[in-house]
Amino acid sequence: MVSRVIPVDPFDLVIFGGTGDLAQRKILPALFRRYCAGQWHDGVRIIAAARSEHDPDAFRAIVAQSLAEFAPEHAGQDDLRSGFLQSLDYVQLDAGADSGWDVLARKLTDDRIRAFYFSVGPSLFGPLAERIRQHGLATPQTRIVVEKPFGHDLKSARALNATLAAYFDESQIYRIDHYLGKETVQNLMAVRFGNMLFEPLWNSQYVDHIQITVAETVGVDGREEYYERAGAMRDMVQNHLMQLLCLIAMEPPAKFDSDAVRDEKLKVIRALDPVQPHHIVRGQYTGGPDGPGYREAVGNPRSTTESYVALRAHVSNWRWAGTPFYLRTGKRLVARSSVINVIFKDAPHSIFGAEAGRHANTLSIRLQPNEGITLKVTIKEPGQGGMRLIDVPLDMSFAEALGPENLDAPDAYERLVMDVIRGNQTLFMRGDEVEAAWAWTDPIIAGWQARGDVPKPYDSGSTGPGDAELLMKRDGRQWQGIKP
Ligand code: NAD
Repeated sequence: MVSRVIPVDPFDLVIFGGTGDLAQRKILPALFRRYCAGQWHDGVRIIAAARSEHDPDAFRAIVAQSLAEFAPEHAGQDDLRSGFLQSLDYVQLDAGADSGWDVLARKLTDDRIRAFYFSVGPSLFGPLAERIRQHGLATPQTRIVVEKPFGHDLKSARALNATLAAYFDESQIYRIDHYLGKETVQNLMAVRFGNMLFEPLWNSQYVDHIQITVAETVGVDGREEYYERAGAMRDMVQNHLMQLLCLIAMEPPAKFDSDAVRDEKLKVIRALDPVQPHHIVRGQYTGGPDGPGYREAVGNPRSTTESYVALRAHVSNWRWAGTPFYLRTGKRLVARSSVINVIFKDAPHSIFGAEAGRHANTLSIRLQPNEGITLKVTIKEPGQGGMRLIDVPLDMSFAEALGPENLDAPDAYERLVMDVIRGNQTLFMRGDEVEAAWAWTDPIIAGWQARGDVPKPYDSGSTGPGDAELLMKRDGRQWQGIKP
Protein backbone atom coordinates (compact mmCIF):
# COMPACT_ATOMS: atom_id res chain seq x y z
CA MET A 1 0.00 0.00 0.00
CA VAL A 2 2.44 2.70 -1.11
CA SER A 3 0.69 6.07 -0.94
CA ARG A 4 -0.25 7.65 -4.23
CA VAL A 5 1.23 11.06 -5.01
CA ILE A 6 -1.17 13.33 -6.88
CA PRO A 7 0.93 15.78 -8.90
CA VAL A 8 0.27 19.49 -8.46
CA ASP A 9 0.04 21.99 -11.31
CA PRO A 10 3.16 23.98 -12.20
CA PHE A 11 3.80 26.83 -9.77
CA ASP A 12 6.21 29.65 -8.99
CA LEU A 13 7.48 29.73 -5.41
CA VAL A 14 9.53 32.68 -4.22
CA ILE A 15 11.41 32.14 -0.96
CA PHE A 16 12.37 35.45 0.61
CA GLY A 17 15.33 34.66 2.84
CA GLY A 18 16.22 31.69 0.61
CA THR A 19 19.85 31.66 1.82
CA GLY A 20 18.85 31.54 5.51
CA ASP A 21 18.87 28.71 8.00
CA LEU A 22 15.19 27.76 7.74
CA ALA A 23 15.19 27.74 3.93
CA GLN A 24 18.36 25.65 3.70
CA ARG A 25 17.57 23.24 6.52
CA LYS A 26 13.83 22.74 6.09
CA ILE A 27 12.07 24.38 3.14
CA LEU A 28 14.37 23.49 0.25
CA PRO A 29 15.05 19.89 1.44
CA ALA A 30 11.26 19.48 1.86
CA LEU A 31 10.67 20.68 -1.71
CA PHE A 32 13.42 18.38 -2.96
CA ARG A 33 11.78 15.37 -1.29
CA ARG A 34 8.43 16.18 -2.88
CA TYR A 35 10.15 16.53 -6.24
CA CYS A 36 11.79 13.10 -5.76
CA ALA A 37 8.39 11.66 -4.78
CA GLY A 38 6.99 12.83 -8.15
CA GLN A 39 4.82 15.63 -6.73
CA TRP A 40 5.35 17.73 -9.84
CA HIS A 41 6.75 17.40 -13.30
CA ASP A 42 8.58 20.05 -15.28
CA GLY A 43 7.97 23.75 -15.28
CA VAL A 44 8.09 24.53 -11.57
CA ARG A 45 10.24 27.49 -10.56
CA ILE A 46 11.64 28.01 -7.11
CA ILE A 47 13.21 31.44 -6.81
CA ALA A 48 15.22 32.39 -3.76
CA ALA A 49 15.35 36.09 -3.01
CA ALA A 50 17.72 37.42 -0.39
CA ARG A 51 20.09 40.25 0.35
CA SER A 52 23.42 38.62 -0.42
CA GLU A 53 24.94 38.63 -3.87
CA HIS A 54 24.99 35.26 -5.65
CA ASP A 55 24.56 34.21 -9.23
CA PRO A 56 22.04 31.39 -9.71
CA ASP A 57 24.80 28.77 -10.12
CA ALA A 58 26.50 29.78 -6.89
CA PHE A 59 23.15 29.56 -5.13
CA ARG A 60 22.51 26.08 -6.59
CA ALA A 61 25.90 24.98 -5.26
CA ILE A 62 24.88 26.15 -1.76
CA VAL A 63 21.60 24.27 -2.01
CA ALA A 64 23.36 21.12 -3.29
CA GLN A 65 25.37 21.09 -0.06
CA SER A 66 22.26 21.59 2.06
CA LEU A 67 20.48 18.73 0.27
CA ALA A 68 23.45 16.44 0.93
CA GLU A 69 23.20 17.28 4.62
CA PHE A 70 19.45 17.54 5.15
CA ALA A 71 18.05 15.12 2.56
CA PRO A 72 20.81 12.47 2.58
CA GLU A 73 18.40 9.67 1.67
CA HIS A 74 18.49 10.91 -1.94
CA ALA A 75 22.28 11.29 -2.02
CA GLY A 76 22.85 8.82 -4.86
CA GLN A 77 20.10 10.15 -7.14
CA ASP A 78 22.11 12.48 -9.34
CA ASP A 79 19.44 12.87 -12.04
CA LEU A 80 16.82 13.92 -9.55
CA ARG A 81 19.18 16.27 -7.78
CA SER A 82 20.25 18.01 -10.97
CA GLY A 83 16.62 18.21 -12.16
CA PHE A 84 15.65 19.90 -8.90
CA LEU A 85 18.64 22.25 -8.90
CA GLN A 86 17.79 23.33 -12.45
CA SER A 87 14.38 24.51 -11.25
CA LEU A 88 16.09 26.89 -8.78
CA ASP A 89 16.88 30.51 -9.45
CA TYR A 90 18.20 33.38 -7.39
CA VAL A 91 17.48 37.11 -7.19
CA GLN A 92 19.36 39.60 -5.05
CA LEU A 93 16.77 41.80 -3.44
CA ASP A 94 16.25 43.95 -0.37
CA ALA A 95 12.87 43.46 1.27
CA GLY A 96 13.06 46.97 2.67
CA ALA A 97 14.01 48.74 -0.58
CA ASP A 98 12.99 48.74 -4.22
CA SER A 99 16.05 47.24 -5.90
CA GLY A 100 15.77 43.76 -7.41
CA TRP A 101 11.97 43.65 -7.68
CA ASP A 102 11.87 44.24 -11.43
CA VAL A 103 14.27 41.31 -11.92
CA LEU A 104 12.03 39.11 -9.79
CA ALA A 105 8.93 40.24 -11.70
CA ARG A 106 10.48 39.16 -15.00
CA LYS A 107 11.15 35.66 -13.69
CA LEU A 108 7.51 35.00 -12.76
CA THR A 109 5.00 33.38 -15.09
CA ASP A 110 1.50 34.75 -15.51
CA ASP A 111 -1.57 32.59 -14.88
CA ARG A 112 -0.09 30.05 -12.56
CA ILE A 113 -0.09 29.51 -8.83
CA ARG A 114 2.30 31.93 -7.22
CA ALA A 115 3.47 31.58 -3.62
CA PHE A 116 5.70 33.93 -1.65
CA TYR A 117 7.31 32.34 1.40
CA PHE A 118 8.42 34.94 3.98
CA SER A 119 11.38 33.09 5.52
CA VAL A 120 12.75 36.30 7.02
CA GLY A 121 12.45 38.06 10.37
CA PRO A 122 8.89 39.25 11.23
CA SER A 123 9.87 42.93 10.93
CA LEU A 124 10.06 42.32 7.16
CA PHE A 125 6.59 40.74 6.77
CA GLY A 126 4.88 44.11 6.32
CA PRO A 127 7.47 45.63 3.93
CA LEU A 128 7.40 42.44 1.82
CA ALA A 129 3.60 42.35 1.58
CA GLU A 130 3.58 46.01 0.58
CA ARG A 131 6.26 45.65 -2.08
CA ILE A 132 4.70 42.55 -3.62
CA ARG A 133 1.58 44.66 -4.20
CA GLN A 134 3.41 47.84 -5.21
CA HIS A 135 5.44 46.03 -7.83
CA GLY A 136 2.37 44.36 -9.25
CA LEU A 137 3.43 40.81 -8.34
CA ALA A 138 0.19 39.84 -6.58
CA THR A 139 -2.23 37.98 -8.84
CA PRO A 140 -5.54 36.33 -7.85
CA GLN A 141 -3.60 33.04 -7.67
CA THR A 142 -1.08 34.48 -5.20
CA ARG A 143 -0.61 33.33 -1.63
CA ILE A 144 1.86 34.33 1.06
CA VAL A 145 3.35 32.12 3.75
CA VAL A 146 4.47 33.63 7.05
CA GLU A 147 6.64 31.95 9.64
CA LYS A 148 6.45 32.16 13.39
CA PRO A 149 6.74 34.23 15.50
CA PHE A 150 3.44 35.83 14.55
CA GLY A 151 3.57 38.83 16.86
CA HIS A 152 5.04 39.28 20.33
CA ASP A 153 1.70 39.93 22.02
CA LEU A 154 -1.91 40.67 21.11
CA LYS A 155 -1.19 44.25 20.11
CA SER A 156 1.65 43.40 17.73
CA ALA A 157 -0.22 40.38 16.30
CA ARG A 158 -3.25 42.62 15.60
CA ALA A 159 -1.03 45.18 13.92
CA LEU A 160 0.63 42.48 11.80
CA ASN A 161 -2.74 41.01 10.81
CA ALA A 162 -3.95 44.49 9.86
CA THR A 163 -0.83 45.14 7.77
CA LEU A 164 -1.13 41.85 5.89
CA ALA A 165 -4.89 42.40 5.46
CA ALA A 166 -4.18 45.72 3.76
CA TYR A 167 -2.52 43.84 0.89
CA PHE A 168 -3.93 40.32 0.93
CA ASP A 169 -7.21 38.60 1.60
CA GLU A 170 -7.28 36.16 4.57
CA SER A 171 -7.76 33.34 2.05
CA GLN A 172 -4.31 34.17 0.66
CA ILE A 173 -2.45 34.21 3.99
CA TYR A 174 -0.87 30.97 5.28
CA ARG A 175 0.45 31.27 8.86
CA ILE A 176 2.69 28.29 9.51
CA ASP A 177 2.65 26.29 12.71
CA HIS A 178 4.73 23.32 11.67
CA TYR A 179 3.26 21.17 14.48
CA LEU A 180 0.03 21.08 12.48
CA GLY A 181 1.89 19.55 9.54
CA LYS A 182 3.01 16.54 11.54
CA GLU A 183 1.49 13.28 10.38
CA THR A 184 0.40 12.22 13.88
CA VAL A 185 -1.39 15.50 14.50
CA GLN A 186 -3.52 14.83 11.44
CA ASN A 187 -3.91 11.27 12.65
CA LEU A 188 -5.28 12.62 15.88
CA MET A 189 -8.19 14.06 13.89
CA ALA A 190 -8.55 10.81 11.94
CA VAL A 191 -8.66 8.76 15.16
CA ARG A 192 -11.12 11.12 16.85
CA PHE A 193 -13.50 11.67 13.98
CA GLY A 194 -13.05 8.53 11.89
CA ASN A 195 -13.87 6.02 14.64
CA MET A 196 -16.96 5.39 16.70
CA LEU A 197 -14.81 4.08 19.54
CA PHE A 198 -13.35 7.25 21.01
CA GLU A 199 -15.70 10.18 20.45
CA PRO A 200 -18.49 9.00 22.83
CA LEU A 201 -15.91 8.89 25.64
CA TRP A 202 -14.21 12.15 24.65
CA ASN A 203 -15.61 14.38 27.41
CA SER A 204 -15.35 15.18 31.09
CA GLN A 205 -17.58 12.30 32.06
CA TYR A 206 -14.97 9.78 30.95
CA VAL A 207 -11.70 11.70 30.60
CA ASP A 208 -9.96 12.42 33.90
CA HIS A 209 -7.38 14.81 32.48
CA ILE A 210 -5.16 15.50 29.49
CA GLN A 211 -1.40 16.06 29.43
CA ILE A 212 0.40 17.76 26.58
CA THR A 213 4.19 17.60 26.79
CA VAL A 214 6.71 19.09 24.38
CA ALA A 215 10.15 18.38 25.86
CA GLU A 216 13.37 19.40 24.17
CA THR A 217 16.95 18.44 24.98
CA VAL A 218 18.45 21.43 23.21
CA GLY A 219 19.05 24.78 24.90
CA VAL A 220 18.68 28.21 23.35
CA ASP A 221 21.79 27.76 21.23
CA GLY A 222 21.89 30.13 18.29
CA ARG A 223 18.59 31.84 19.13
CA GLU A 224 19.65 33.63 22.33
CA GLU A 225 18.56 37.13 21.39
CA TYR A 226 15.14 36.12 20.15
CA TYR A 227 14.52 33.67 23.00
CA GLU A 228 15.49 36.08 25.76
CA ARG A 229 12.69 38.38 24.55
CA ALA A 230 10.23 35.54 23.98
CA GLY A 231 10.56 32.74 26.57
CA ALA A 232 8.79 29.39 26.49
CA MET A 233 5.31 30.89 26.85
CA ARG A 234 5.58 32.92 23.65
CA ASP A 235 7.86 30.54 21.77
CA MET A 236 5.97 27.29 22.40
CA VAL A 237 2.76 27.56 24.44
CA GLN A 238 1.02 30.40 22.56
CA ASN A 239 1.30 28.51 19.28
CA HIS A 240 2.29 24.81 19.25
CA LEU A 241 0.83 23.66 22.58
CA MET A 242 -2.36 25.66 22.19
CA GLN A 243 -2.85 24.28 18.70
CA LEU A 244 -2.53 20.74 20.04
CA LEU A 245 -4.96 21.56 22.86
CA CYS A 246 -7.45 22.87 20.28
CA LEU A 247 -7.31 19.69 18.20
CA ILE A 248 -7.89 17.54 21.29
CA ALA A 249 -10.67 19.69 22.71
CA MET A 250 -12.58 20.92 19.66
CA GLU A 251 -16.06 19.78 18.68
CA PRO A 252 -16.33 17.68 15.52
CA PRO A 253 -16.35 20.11 12.59
CA ALA A 254 -19.18 19.56 10.11
CA LYS A 255 -16.61 18.81 7.44
CA PHE A 256 -12.86 18.69 7.06
CA ASP A 257 -12.44 22.07 5.47
CA SER A 258 -10.32 24.97 6.53
CA ASP A 259 -12.96 27.28 7.93
CA ALA A 260 -14.98 24.55 9.63
CA VAL A 261 -11.88 23.22 11.45
CA ARG A 262 -10.56 26.65 12.33
CA ASP A 263 -13.95 27.84 13.60
CA GLU A 264 -13.99 24.93 16.06
CA LYS A 265 -10.41 25.58 17.19
CA LEU A 266 -11.22 29.24 17.78
CA LYS A 267 -14.19 28.29 19.99
CA VAL A 268 -11.85 26.24 22.18
CA ILE A 269 -9.41 29.11 22.66
CA ARG A 270 -12.27 31.45 23.50
CA ALA A 271 -13.57 28.96 26.07
CA LEU A 272 -10.27 28.84 27.97
CA ASP A 273 -10.48 30.23 31.50
CA PRO A 274 -7.83 32.69 32.64
CA VAL A 275 -5.04 30.69 34.30
CA GLN A 276 -4.69 31.10 38.08
CA PRO A 277 -1.15 32.09 39.15
CA HIS A 278 -0.88 29.00 41.39
CA HIS A 279 -1.63 26.82 38.36
CA ILE A 280 1.56 27.84 36.54
CA VAL A 281 5.18 26.92 37.10
CA ARG A 282 7.99 28.69 35.29
CA GLY A 283 11.51 27.30 35.17
CA GLN A 284 14.96 28.18 33.90
CA TYR A 285 17.72 25.60 33.32
CA THR A 286 21.01 25.75 35.13
CA GLY A 287 24.39 24.69 33.72
CA GLY A 288 25.69 21.14 33.72
CA PRO A 289 28.18 18.87 31.99
CA ASP A 290 26.32 19.35 28.69
CA GLY A 291 26.70 23.10 28.58
CA PRO A 292 26.07 26.46 30.19
CA GLY A 293 22.91 27.37 32.03
CA TYR A 294 20.28 29.61 30.49
CA ARG A 295 21.57 32.84 32.04
CA GLU A 296 25.13 32.20 30.88
CA ALA A 297 23.91 31.21 27.41
CA VAL A 298 22.04 34.48 26.91
CA GLY A 299 24.72 36.55 28.69
CA ASN A 300 22.27 37.99 31.22
CA PRO A 301 23.01 36.95 34.84
CA ARG A 302 19.67 38.42 35.97
CA SER A 303 17.49 37.05 33.21
CA THR A 304 13.95 36.19 34.31
CA THR A 305 12.95 34.62 30.99
CA GLU A 306 11.49 31.14 31.37
CA SER A 307 12.88 28.16 29.45
CA TYR A 308 10.16 25.94 30.97
CA VAL A 309 6.43 26.31 31.60
CA ALA A 310 3.92 23.91 33.11
CA LEU A 311 0.33 24.99 33.58
CA ARG A 312 -3.16 23.77 34.23
CA ALA A 313 -5.79 25.02 31.82
CA HIS A 314 -9.57 24.67 31.78
CA VAL A 315 -11.83 24.69 28.75
CA SER A 316 -15.10 26.03 30.11
CA ASN A 317 -17.70 24.42 27.94
CA TRP A 318 -20.26 21.64 28.23
CA ARG A 319 -17.87 18.95 27.02
CA TRP A 320 -14.85 19.73 29.17
CA ALA A 321 -16.11 21.34 32.40
CA GLY A 322 -14.10 19.72 35.20
CA THR A 323 -11.39 18.09 33.06
CA PRO A 324 -8.03 19.82 33.46
CA PHE A 325 -5.56 20.16 30.58
CA TYR A 326 -1.96 20.12 31.83
CA LEU A 327 0.53 21.63 29.42
CA ARG A 328 4.31 21.60 29.83
CA THR A 329 7.25 22.44 27.64
CA GLY A 330 10.89 23.10 28.32
CA LYS A 331 14.42 23.15 27.05
CA ARG A 332 17.39 21.07 28.18
CA LEU A 333 15.13 18.35 29.57
CA VAL A 334 15.99 14.70 29.96
CA ALA A 335 14.67 13.64 26.54
CA ARG A 336 13.19 14.98 23.34
CA SER A 337 9.57 13.98 23.40
CA SER A 338 6.30 15.45 22.18
CA VAL A 339 3.30 13.52 23.35
CA ILE A 340 -0.36 14.02 24.19
CA ASN A 341 -1.80 11.72 26.85
CA VAL A 342 -5.55 11.40 27.29
CA ILE A 343 -6.05 9.76 30.68
CA PHE A 344 -9.48 8.24 31.14
CA LYS A 345 -11.20 7.81 34.48
CA ASP A 346 -10.97 4.63 36.54
CA ALA A 347 -13.81 2.17 36.11
CA PRO A 348 -16.62 3.36 38.43
CA HIS A 349 -16.52 0.19 40.52
CA SER A 350 -13.84 -2.49 40.71
CA ILE A 351 -15.29 -5.97 40.86
CA PHE A 352 -11.78 -7.27 41.58
CA GLY A 353 -11.36 -5.59 44.95
CA ALA A 354 -8.55 -3.50 46.38
CA GLU A 355 -5.78 -5.97 45.51
CA ALA A 356 -6.34 -5.33 41.79
CA GLY A 357 -5.24 -1.72 42.29
CA ARG A 358 -6.43 1.30 40.33
CA HIS A 359 -6.20 1.31 36.56
CA ALA A 360 -7.00 3.90 33.95
CA ASN A 361 -6.89 3.68 30.19
CA THR A 362 -4.51 6.11 28.55
CA LEU A 363 -4.46 7.08 24.89
CA SER A 364 -1.00 8.40 23.97
CA ILE A 365 -0.45 10.27 20.76
CA ARG A 366 3.30 10.54 20.15
CA LEU A 367 4.42 13.29 17.80
CA GLN A 368 8.12 12.65 18.17
CA PRO A 369 10.14 10.56 18.26
CA ASN A 370 8.60 7.27 17.02
CA GLU A 371 5.32 8.76 15.82
CA GLY A 372 2.44 6.58 16.76
CA ILE A 373 -0.60 6.05 18.93
CA THR A 374 -0.82 3.75 21.92
CA LEU A 375 -3.87 2.78 23.94
CA LYS A 376 -3.13 1.33 27.35
CA VAL A 377 -5.69 -1.25 28.37
CA THR A 378 -6.00 -3.24 31.56
CA ILE A 379 -5.72 -7.03 31.48
CA LYS A 380 -5.15 -9.85 33.91
CA GLU A 381 -1.54 -10.34 34.89
CA PRO A 382 -0.68 -13.70 33.36
CA GLY A 383 0.05 -16.67 35.57
CA GLN A 384 -0.88 -15.02 38.87
CA GLY A 385 -3.31 -16.48 41.35
CA GLY A 386 -6.33 -14.32 42.12
CA MET A 387 -7.10 -11.42 39.86
CA ARG A 388 -4.14 -9.08 39.58
CA LEU A 389 -4.36 -6.52 36.83
CA ILE A 390 -1.71 -4.85 34.67
CA ASP A 391 -1.83 -2.20 31.96
CA VAL A 392 -0.47 -3.16 28.57
CA PRO A 393 -0.22 -1.13 25.39
CA LEU A 394 -2.30 -1.73 22.31
CA ASP A 395 0.27 -0.24 20.04
CA MET A 396 -0.62 1.34 16.72
CA SER A 397 2.95 1.62 15.55
CA PHE A 398 2.71 3.05 12.06
CA ALA A 399 5.83 1.09 11.12
CA GLU A 400 4.25 -2.25 11.97
CA ALA A 401 0.72 -1.51 10.85
CA LEU A 402 1.49 0.08 7.50
CA GLY A 403 4.76 -1.52 6.47
CA PRO A 404 8.16 0.11 6.12
CA GLU A 405 7.50 1.33 2.55
CA ASN A 406 4.77 3.61 3.91
CA LEU A 407 6.79 5.08 6.71
CA ASP A 408 8.19 7.63 4.37
CA ALA A 409 5.29 10.00 5.08
CA PRO A 410 5.98 13.61 4.11
CA ASP A 411 7.47 15.59 6.97
CA ALA A 412 5.67 18.66 8.31
CA TYR A 413 7.26 21.15 5.91
CA GLU A 414 6.67 18.91 2.89
CA ARG A 415 3.01 18.60 3.76
CA LEU A 416 2.52 22.29 4.53
CA VAL A 417 4.34 23.70 1.50
CA MET A 418 2.32 21.42 -0.78
CA ASP A 419 -0.89 22.50 0.98
CA VAL A 420 0.04 26.10 0.13
CA ILE A 421 0.35 25.15 -3.54
CA ARG A 422 -2.93 23.18 -3.39
CA GLY A 423 -4.63 26.14 -1.70
CA ASN A 424 -5.64 24.18 1.39
CA GLN A 425 -5.57 26.32 4.57
CA THR A 426 -6.87 23.70 7.01
CA LEU A 427 -3.50 23.17 8.70
CA PHE A 428 -2.64 26.89 8.92
CA MET A 429 -3.62 29.32 11.64
CA ARG A 430 -6.24 31.92 10.86
CA GLY A 431 -5.67 35.52 11.99
CA ASP A 432 -8.46 35.45 14.59
CA GLU A 433 -7.10 32.22 16.12
CA VAL A 434 -3.67 33.76 16.59
CA GLU A 435 -5.16 36.85 18.19
CA ALA A 436 -7.35 34.79 20.53
CA ALA A 437 -4.30 32.76 21.60
CA TRP A 438 -2.40 35.95 22.43
CA ALA A 439 -5.43 37.29 24.30
CA TRP A 440 -5.18 34.23 26.58
CA THR A 441 -1.38 34.29 27.08
CA ASP A 442 -0.90 38.07 27.44
CA PRO A 443 -2.47 38.35 30.94
CA ILE A 444 -0.37 35.42 32.15
CA ILE A 445 2.83 37.13 31.03
CA ALA A 446 1.61 40.51 32.35
CA GLY A 447 0.96 38.86 35.73
CA TRP A 448 4.56 37.58 35.90
CA GLN A 449 5.86 41.01 35.06
CA ALA A 450 3.63 42.75 37.61
CA ARG A 451 4.69 40.33 40.37
CA GLY A 452 8.39 40.38 39.42
CA ASP A 453 8.18 36.60 39.07
CA VAL A 454 11.50 34.75 38.91
CA PRO A 455 11.52 31.31 37.25
CA LYS A 456 12.50 28.30 39.37
CA PRO A 457 15.92 26.87 38.50
CA TYR A 458 16.05 23.27 37.25
CA ASP A 459 18.94 20.99 36.38
CA SER A 460 19.80 20.48 32.73
CA GLY A 461 18.91 16.90 31.83
CA SER A 462 16.10 16.70 34.41
CA THR A 463 12.32 16.61 33.95
CA GLY A 464 11.99 20.27 34.97
CA PRO A 465 11.44 22.11 38.26
CA GLY A 466 10.11 20.17 41.25
CA ASP A 467 7.18 22.58 41.51
CA ALA A 468 5.81 21.16 38.27
CA GLU A 469 5.50 17.78 40.02
CA LEU A 470 3.72 19.51 42.90
CA LEU A 471 1.26 21.13 40.49
CA MET A 472 0.12 17.60 39.64
CA LYS A 473 0.50 16.11 43.10
CA ARG A 474 -1.83 18.70 44.61
CA ASP A 475 -4.48 17.37 42.22
CA GLY A 476 -3.70 13.74 43.10
CA ARG A 477 -2.15 13.14 39.68
CA GLN A 478 1.30 12.76 38.19
CA TRP A 479 3.00 13.50 34.91
CA GLN A 480 3.49 10.57 32.59
CA GLY A 481 7.23 10.06 32.10
CA ILE A 482 9.14 11.97 29.43
CA LYS A 483 10.38 9.08 27.34
CA PRO A 484 13.38 9.17 25.05
P1 NAD B 1 18.33 33.60 8.98
O1 NAD B 1 18.86 34.78 9.69
O2 NAD B 1 19.16 32.35 8.92
O3 NAD B 1 18.00 33.99 7.48
C1 NAD B 1 17.39 35.20 7.14
C2 NAD B 1 17.31 35.32 5.62
O4 NAD B 1 16.66 36.55 5.34
C3 NAD B 1 18.64 35.35 4.88
O5 NAD B 1 18.47 34.69 3.64
C4 NAD B 1 18.85 36.85 4.62
O6 NAD B 1 19.63 37.10 3.45
C5 NAD B 1 17.43 37.28 4.40
N1 NAD B 1 17.25 38.71 4.65
C6 NAD B 1 17.49 39.38 5.80
N2 NAD B 1 17.18 40.69 5.64
C7 NAD B 1 16.73 40.83 4.35
C8 NAD B 1 16.28 41.92 3.58
N3 NAD B 1 16.20 43.16 4.08
N4 NAD B 1 15.90 41.68 2.32
C9 NAD B 1 15.94 40.44 1.78
N5 NAD B 1 16.38 39.37 2.47
C10 NAD B 1 16.77 39.57 3.73
O7 NAD B 1 16.89 33.31 9.63
P2 NAD B 1 16.10 31.92 9.67
O8 NAD B 1 16.55 31.14 10.85
O9 NAD B 1 16.17 31.28 8.33
O10 NAD B 1 14.62 32.40 10.01
C11 NAD B 1 13.75 33.02 9.06
C12 NAD B 1 12.38 33.21 9.67
O11 NAD B 1 11.83 31.96 10.02
C13 NAD B 1 12.37 34.02 10.96
O12 NAD B 1 11.16 34.73 11.04
C14 NAD B 1 12.40 32.97 12.05
O13 NAD B 1 11.83 33.43 13.26
C15 NAD B 1 11.52 31.92 11.41
N6 NAD B 1 11.76 30.57 11.92
C16 NAD B 1 12.97 29.98 11.79
C17 NAD B 1 13.16 28.68 12.25
C18 NAD B 1 14.48 27.98 12.10
O14 NAD B 1 14.54 26.79 12.46
N7 NAD B 1 15.51 28.60 11.60
C19 NAD B 1 12.09 27.98 12.84
C20 NAD B 1 10.85 28.61 12.92
C21 NAD B 1 10.70 29.90 12.46
